Amino acid sequence: MKKIIFATGNENKMREIRQILGDLPVEILSMKQAGITADIVENGTTFEENALIKARAIAEITNEIVLADDSGLEIDALNKEPGIYSARYMGEDTSYHVKNQNLIERLEGVEEEKRTARFVCAIAAAFPEGKVITTAGIVEGVIAHEERGENGFGYDPIFFVPEFGCTTAELSDEEKNKISHRGNALRAMKEKLLPFIGV
Ligand code: IMP
Repeated sequence: MKKIIFATGNENKMREIRQILGDLPVEILSMKQAGITADIVENGTTFEENALIKARAIAEITNEIVLADDSGLEIDALNKEPGIYSARYMGEDTSYHVKNQNLIERLEGVEEEKRTARFVCAIAAAFPEGKVITTAGIVEGVIAHEERGENGFGYDPIFFVPEFGCTTAELSDEEKNKISHRGNALRAMKEKLLPFIGV
């Protein structure tokens, strides 16, 4: 069976990825499962560039198809911050409770209709022979006034999706996958990958 390595160490992401790509006739491995440790400098200026940097770097040291994603939260009233710096915002080791409270505080006084935000995800696939493919996905929402929900990770407790009347941290994994930025980008990637894995 063909293998696809997903260049992430994030177990939450791996769970979402397995749910969406799980029915493909390929073995999906995390970096850890593939036995790869690499410290990649994500110095791109867009989500797509960062995804490509990661996928290419790992494809160079393996002989497999490598997928990588880069994602983050863009808040319109904060000039699209934290954006590509979402993981690094206020420092990698700062808890998301602190990060979320900080973003809520920074939005104090901002009119309701200007609290718009989106999660963005770019996915890149790099093939051993050098070819690359990219896809992107988004989900639109607004920043809540307080954290709500225990599911998901990161900024989910403050990301309110009006159509669902709740935050993405109040959705089950399945519900979130159906609408999420990563879900949308992964489904687009799945379509593009089919010819390469002989389906
Ligand atoms: P990445 O791992 O470099 O793609 O960084 C993604 C960062 O964006 C995460 O560490 C979170 O801070 C944020 N993020 C991306 N996707 C989500 C999501 O689905 N929910 C909550 N936060 C997310």
